[in-house]
Amino acid sequence: MTPAQAGEIFQILFRSYGDVLDTQPSKGWGSPFQVLILTILSAQTTDFSVDKVREPLFTRFPTPAALAAARPEEVEEIIHSLGFFRVKARHLIGTAQVLLDRYSGEVPATMEDLLTLPGVGRKTANIVLYHAFGKNEGIAVDTHVKRLAHRIGFTDSRNQDTVEEDLEHCFPRDQWGILTDLFIAHGRAICTAQNPSCPVCPIRHLCRYYQNLPLPARTDGKQSP
Ligand code: SF4
Repeated sequence: MTPAQAGEIFQILFRSYGDVLDTQPSKGWGSPFQVLILTILSAQTTDFSVDKVREPLFTRFPTPAALAAARPEEVEEIIHSLGFFRVKARHLIGTAQVLLDRYSGEVPATMEDLLTLPGVGRKTANIVLYHAFGKNEGIAVDTHVKRLAHRIGFTDSRNQDTVEEDLEHCFPRDQWGILTDLFIAHGRAICTAQNPSCPVCPIRHLCRYYQNLPLPARTDGKQSP
């Protein structure tokens, strides 16, 4: 994958999904505290499910102090519709307690400090740094990003950290935050896990997976890539 090809993929995906994304960090995600809590909750579940618990959770626990003082059962009751809700409730309360104890109740704005919070790994930290602070510290590699990076040909690795490094070599830093959002949008709309819609995909002419399909599967009735 050349830089020019990576750049073309970015431009096509941005034209396809840019207008429906939160392209401006800090817009629509709430405060840094809310971005952090929502991102921890989003693991292994859908945005739709997280959206449903957002309002009751922040109404009951609007601040790190309120959440740090919560009993696990109180949080579990609100987020029980999400996967791994018991573990997530412990992480939320533990995170709020660390915010109070070590960071004066504020969400830290560095990778190093974010990784000290329970339930926060590089993926979550990258999302928080971009959407709460506008920092392009890294590329958040979730299941969609990993799948697309592999299919399109940005990486041969299945290791999350290596996939992130391979992607970061292909794209300029100022595109890292939005790239995650573009890949997720494309992974949901067209390049789905089970049945990618390659014949209608706007980046198929640059995609390794598509190039390796047998010729009949590459026919879309219009034009070969
Ligand atoms: S051509 Fe197919 S595999 Fe490649 S990005 Fe598009 S939908 Fe995914």
